[in-house]
Amino acid sequence: MSAATLLREILRPIWVAARHVFFKPYTYKYPYEEIPNLPSENYRFDPKQGFAYPGFKGRHLLILEKCTGCSLCDIACQNIAEAITMVYAFDVIIEAEEKDYNEFASGRGVLSELLDRVVEGFTRPLVEPGPGTGGSHPLLGFFADLKRVVKADGKASIRLNSDPIWEHNSATLYSNYLDEQFSQLEKSGWSFSILEDKFPDAIVYGASKNGCSVKIIIQKRDLKYPQNKKSYFPQVDYGRCVFCGFCVDACPFYALEMTPDVELSSISRQGLVYNPYMLAGPKISTNPPSTNPIDAFYGWLRAKLGR
Ligand code: SF4
Ligand code: SF4
Repeated sequence: MSAATLLREILRPIWVAARHVFFKPYTYKYPYEEIPNLPSENYRFDPKQGFAYPGFKGRHLLILEKCTGCSLCDIACQNIAEAITMVYAFDVIIEAEEKDYNEFASGRGVLSELLDRVVEGFTRPLVEPGPGTGGSHPLLGFFADLKRVVKADGKASIRLNSDPIWEHNSATLYSNYLDEQFSQLEKSGWSFSILEDKFPDAIVYGASKNGCSVKIIIQKRDLKYPQNKKSYFPQVDYGRCVFCGFCVDACPFYALEMTPDVELSSISRQGLVYNPYMLAGPKISTNPPSTNPIDAFYGWLRAKLGR
C-alpha cells in the first residue's frame, strides 16, 4: 500500500466523523425535546368535534357535554384494571358568624385554626387509598378562596375551593380528608357534631370553640350538564389503566375517546389520577427543561435549523 493510500484510509474516517459535527442531529433528547411526528404532536383538544385517532390508545378524553354518568365505562373496566371510579363533584363551604369571620380576616380569633386544618386535610398527599375508595384522589389547587366569601344575614360563607373535589360520596370525602384533621382539632378544644346527614349527597358538621360556632358543609355541586343531572363522571387512575380501550367501546354516548397523549408519567401516585376535569382538558405533561448545556445547544441548533 502506498503512503498516499494509507493516508487516505486514515484520514477518510476522521473526515467522515468530523463532518457529522456540522450535520443536523438525527436523535432527539427526549424527554427534554418534543419528538416530532409522534401522534402526541398532533394532540388537539376539541371536545365539540369529539376528535379521536382510531387505533391509538393513549390518555382518555372525556367529553363532559356527552357523558350521562351511566357508569358503563366503569363496569367495563371492573374486570380489567379497576382504573375507573365514578365520582361526584363536591364543594366544601365553611359558614361562620360574620363577627367571627371579621376577626379571622383581621388575623384574630380561632377560625383560622379550623380553616388551616381543613385546607391542610385537602392538600396533604394521600399515600394509601382511603377505606372503600378504590384509589387515591388527588386534589389539585385546593385553597381557601377568600374573595369568594359571601356575607348575608350576619353570616359569612367561605367556599374553600374553586374546582370541585371529586369523590364517590360525602362520607368518603370526610373519611379521606377531614377525619384526621377533626381529631387533631378536638385535641385543641374544638367540638364537632353532625347537624345534617344527607348521605351520599351532603353532610353538615357543626364545630365550635371559645364561642366561635361554624358549619362545615360538604355538598354536591351541580355542574349544570342537562344530560347528566347528578354531575356523575368517570375518573381514571393511570397507575392502574392498561390502555385496553374497553371503556371507550362500552360508552354508548361517544363521551369517552382515547387520545395520542402517552406522556403521563408523574413523580407522585396522586399525579396519575385524572379527575373528570383533567380528562376533559388539554394535555397536562410538558417536556422538562434540560440542565445539560450540550442538550441546550442541540435544542438551539434544531430550532435554528427548523427541525
Ligand atoms: S382503557 Fe384503562 S380505564 Fe379503560 S377499560 Fe381499559 S384499563 Fe380500564
Ligand atoms: S363516559 Fe360514557 S360510559 Fe362512562 S359514564 Fe359517561 S356516558 Fe357512561
